[in-house]
Amino acid sequence: MSDTHQRGPGTGASHEGHPHAHPFDPDDRSAPGAGVVVADGVIEIDTRLGGWERVTAGYLIEGDAPVLVETGSQSSVPALLAQLENIGLAADDLAGVVVTHIHLDHAGGVGDVARAFPKATVYVHPKGARHLADPTRLVDSAARVYGPLLDSLYGRLDPTPSERIHVLEDGEMVRVSANRSLVAIDSPGHAKHHLGLHDSLSGVLFAGDAVGVKLPDAGVLRPSTPPPDFDLTSALHSLQRFAERRPTALALAHYGLLAEPLDILDEADGTLRHWADVAESAYRKGEDIAAALAAEFASDLDGVSEEQREKLEVMNGVHSNAAGFRRWLSVRDSGDGRSTSTG
Ligand SMILES: [Zn+2]
Repeated sequence: MSDTHQRGPGTGASHEGHPHAHPFDPDDRSAPGAGVVVADGVIEIDTRLGGWERVTAGYLIEGDAPVLVETGSQSSVPALLAQLENIGLAADDLAGVVVTHIHLDHAGGVGDVARAFPKATVYVHPKGARHLADPTRLVDSAARVYGPLLDSLYGRLDPTPSERIHVLEDGEMVRVSANRSLVAIDSPGHAKHHLGLHDSLSGVLFAGDAVGVKLPDAGVLRPSTPPPDFDLTSALHSLQRFAERRPTALALAHYGLLAEPLDILDEADGTLRHWADVAESAYRKGEDIAAALAAEFASDLDGVSEEQREKLEVMNGVHSNAAGFRRWLSVRDSGDGRSTSTG
């Protein structure tokens, strides 16, 4: 059914080439398109991180007060704005922007988008709000994590005027129309400032990175456990909370809509526990966690092309996951004396 609603590529004529320069995809096809309707009143927008297709998604929720979920990175803003224009959204039309969390591949474009849509309210988790108003510390720490990729791939984050920021508490609703709202679900684990959004009309749950990463062209679902916040107990609890809401589908930021949400949540739970077991076992033995994860899960990538592996490595690298597990394990060990290590 969704195919019959697919919108054609926009004119694209006014789009001036590539949104930004980067080393990964010299063959970028630059026509921005106008998104794809993936559920009732839900338009998936490929925000084209790095010029790649099907790696970073935003979603426009249609109603008399349309809301965008995720802006993507700052480098994605030209592609995002071109598509919103092709969809027919004028500057005063967008009522809200929600970010599932404040990592730059989700929220880096917020300041720019807030400027482009002056009537839009920016919604964010309580623990993320101050970083949108003053991104200095967030950008500094992103610079340490991403190194040269910060400017070549992601871009930065412009501040959002604090009077335009609305903190979303767990269970709070963002109204989209008389019969439609997005319910915020506090869902820490991947990050402590992570929200899921459950659409009351379509039943789609926008899961951010809480369920993991499943790029359509790579196929495999992998957990996303980056430092500094990753916490296994919280992450598993968040998956449970999502399942309890009985969504009709999950919309991942990386990437796209997944039917059979309960099966996926079950798979995410099992996969995350497996990764954590492998990481903890290496950690206890003093071995390299990244090497252990790479060895254990190498066969997941059988048949996956080099290009797809490269996308996965940037979005969901084994080293980032390993660093998140290492930090989680060391914090747990040093934190409260309930260490499970033998000694
Ligand atoms: Zn992400």
